[in-house]
Amino acid sequence: MNQARNEEILINVTPQETRVAIVENGMLQELHIERSDAKGMVGNIYKGKVVRVLPGMQAAFVEIGLERTAFLHAHDAKPMLIMGDRENDRPKDRPEEGNNEKPISELVREGQEILVQVVNDPLGSKGARLTTEISIPSRYLVYLPHSKVTGISQRITDETTREGLRSIIDTIKQQKNCTGGYIARTSAETAQVGEIQQDMLILCRLWEKASEKEKNCRAPALVYEDLPLALRALRDFVRSSVSKVLIDSSETYDRVRALAGDLTPDAVHIIEHYPGERPIFDLYSVEDEIERALQRRVPLKSGGHLVIDQTEAMTTVDVNTGGFVGKKTLEETVFKTNLEAARAVARQLRLRNLGGIIIIDFIDMQLKSHQNQVLGALERGLAKDSTKNNMTEMSTLGLVEITRKRTRESLGHQLTEDCPVCDGRGTLKTAHTICNEIFREILREARQYEEASTYMVIASQDVIDRLLDEESANLADLQEFIGAAIQLHVEATFFQENYDIVLT
Ligand SMILES: [Zn+2]
Repeated sequence: MNQARNEEILINVTPQETRVAIVENGMLQELHIERSDAKGMVGNIYKGKVVRVLPGMQAAFVEIGLERTAFLHAHDAKPMLIMGDRENDRPKDRPEEGNNEKPISELVREGQEILVQVVNDPLGSKGARLTTEISIPSRYLVYLPHSKVTGISQRITDETTREGLRSIIDTIKQQKNCTGGYIARTSAETAQVGEIQQDMLILCRLWEKASEKEKNCRAPALVYEDLPLALRALRDFVRSSVSKVLIDSSETYDRVRALAGDLTPDAVHIIEHYPGERPIFDLYSVEDEIERALQRRVPLKSGGHLVIDQTEAMTTVDVNTGGFVGKKTLEETVFKTNLEAARAVARQLRLRNLGGIIIIDFIDMQLKSHQNQVLGALERGLAKDSTKNNMTEMSTLGLVEITRKRTRESLGHQLTEDCPVCDGRGTLKTAHTICNEIFREILREARQYEEASTYMVIASQDVIDRLLDEESANLADLQEFIGAAIQLHVEATFFQENYDIVLT
């Protein structure tokens, strides 16, 4: 297949974070962010030392050189077991290990040095959780150095594709003398033979380096660490459709070039240093697009817009028309808007990295042919997404449901937090409502503390202004009713909903 080279990868590096933008035909499609202070340890491989075996808990403490000793449960300590549940790529044909788990005391002993991989980062007082089932993911494969299996992700359902992948992997394994087991990930479904071969060779080389390190170091020591984002981008995102990789840090450029020379020699010539005066993310307005990807509302060229809401359970996308345009019929306007919306939704899901259940509420269409064209556009857009997704037919209410695999956190969760002023509601009680709350509160207190002579109301400027203006008559009535004075005080740091009532 000869794909157009219409993608570019822009890499922006600062000491605080690395950001990778994937741009297709000048439009930002995907964004990956890695912050230097929030880099987890999941996936890291350590040569550790068993410091305590706890038969009662069926677990062992393992020293891996972190602040807290890490934790290995008997369940995760089967040296010959092949892989964890990483990204649901557990193959159907995985050999059953049986449920009769061996006691921890038969698996490890104190003082023993073992190779372990971090499954969960340390959290609070809990140490990192470990496994002895080492696995290293790449773009299309998961490598299992301690296994011999060739497995295919269960998500790849087509039998011919499964058999094809199996024979490609087995052939390369023999030809290139690669040891260990390989699992084809869902992303391998559309990969070409050369791409899978390149992945296998990369994994072999990474493992060789890790094994060498393991032999030559003393526990506890870090033996393998997943690549930082800028280098991972080379491994995971550079494919035949990419025409250029632009990097704005000369240091990172040198590292990426060096790695490419090692791992992907074909890609060396497309990697460039970007020394430009303009920030790299101003190219193709990437920075503006990121800003827009955090908004609820996505304007459409046709005049309509999408409203995207992310809740804990699901994401909803509401499609709205921009009003009836004179010359066309209503059905035509609706169809055009839905068609544009379908393309926009596919892009937004990828850009915002929204996972789980997504419900799209298209505007009602009368014609079945229009419905089919809209669904077709959505399907084509979703096909470009390398994250696995699934789409249902349109319901009679015009709803379409998409499920999209959850990978990293969504862009919104990565970059924003709930507004502390409104607690994420997006709305505030009006000054009017707050004034009424204050009156009720004073009445309540006046009943309790009959002898109080003065009440001091401390509130935001807007609320005090209202008490002095629209509410001044009510305020006077209240003072008379409770037989006490009410003083007002503006607190500049208070938001509209904050107030205090002080008895003096
Ligand atoms: Zn707010």
